[in-house]
Amino acid sequence: MFLRLTLVLAGMGSGLVARAQQPSVVQTVLLRDVRLIDGTGAGPREHVSLLMRNGRIDKIGGTEMAAPKNAVVRELVGKTVMPGLISAHSHLGLIVDDAESSATGYTRENVTAQLNQFERYGVTTIMSLGVNRDLVYELKKEQHEGKLGGATIFTAGRGIGVPGGAPGLPAAPDQIYRPATVDQARMDVDELAEHHADIVKVWVDSGHGTMPEMPEPMYRAVIEEAHKKHLRVAAHVYALEDAKRLVADGVDVLAHSVRDQLVDDAFVRAMKQRGVWYVPTFTVDESFVVYAERPAFMQTVFFEEAAGPKLMAKFNASEYDDKVNQDPQTEQHRKDFALGQQNLKRVFEGGVHVGFGTDSGALPGRIPGFAEHRELELMVQAGLTPMQAITAATGDNAKLLHVADRGTIAVGKRADLLVLDADPLSDIRNTQRIVAVYHDGLSVADLPGK
Ligand SMILES: [Zn+2]
Repeated sequence: MFLRLTLVLAGMGSGLVARAQQPSVVQTVLLRDVRLIDGTGAGPREHVSLLMRNGRIDKIGGTEMAAPKNAVVRELVGKTVMPGLISAHSHLGLIVDDAESSATGYTRENVTAQLNQFERYGVTTIMSLGVNRDLVYELKKEQHEGKLGGATIFTAGRGIGVPGGAPGLPAAPDQIYRPATVDQARMDVDELAEHHADIVKVWVDSGHGTMPEMPEPMYRAVIEEAHKKHLRVAAHVYALEDAKRLVADGVDVLAHSVRDQLVDDAFVRAMKQRGVWYVPTFTVDESFVVYAERPAFMQTVFFEEAAGPKLMAKFNASEYDDKVNQDPQTEQHRKDFALGQQNLKRVFEGGVHVGFGTDSGALPGRIPGFAEHRELELMVQAGLTPMQAITAATGDNAKLLHVADRGTIAVGKRADLLVLDADPLSDIRNTQRIVAVYHDGLSVADLPGK
């Protein structure tokens, strides 16, 4: 498994590729005799053949499907195909050199390298949920015109916090709105609408009383203004009481787990009745503490390639473990993680829409591409079945994003998919055994420079 993966990843590199410049890469590919997980939540189908043409799923049938002239045919008996992963909560350009947070990280070079990393790990679509410079709109446009590769970007643009409040990340002044008044907050929403942002992000969190928190009248105004402009609102949240007020005020997505206490039935009912999405992001809490525990996954090529040598050196330094173990916040992060896991089970069983995200890219330990596969594992650990976790990260997340052209494998959808060496329904960690990634029908490994 590692040999295969090493070959695949080594062949991909991280070069920036302009798709429009590639000679005749649009091809017809027949994937023959696979197990198909289609992202709808329906059971797997065996001995399926899939035809991809012009970036779309063109035909789905049995092993007898004839290959059109000039089609590339891949015999994949025993392999599993599933939709490309969608992260509804990630970030771009906040980390430099794979290892440090920096306010100077939001450059074309850095952002495109991260987009390429997401893509080669099978995360074919991401929502960059705030703290973006306006460069993000340019990059999105270039992707739309076929001039730029990498994971397809959706974005919340800068996002809206309050002065001195969350997010407490190093960021350039043109990377986040910090309105001091409700009127300014409304104007920030209007600017996001002019930029055609895909969603509005607000931060509602006092960091356990250490920072000013956005007051309710301000986020209520943001929600109202956004809805007027046909934009939805996703909220960074931590505490149950904030989450309840946001839901009552009409928020559309809670972009983290509730972690200060167990959610109650009234909250679960309100979430369900109002159709609010819940995105757990277990990676947030786990990433503060897990690397000091030296889990076995840190030894895998899959992890090491994603982390990169500088972050690996940081984790492997002897003072790293001491720093984590002596940090007074470490115990809090463990509690937050445990409560988040219990709360996912509660909201899921209560019939709330559960989406999928990681906060990857926000801090160095939230590693683009790796984090998404780990998050699937953590959702299963919290009590979802592998199929339920996969559906959250594919078909359901497309619904969360309001995009109908991806997330499931059906005729006419974008050909965004993973070919896996083993069945993730028997062990969710098998999503990491990637044989190939196709994005818009193109093999990521085949792209020149990758
Ligand atoms: Zn975030």
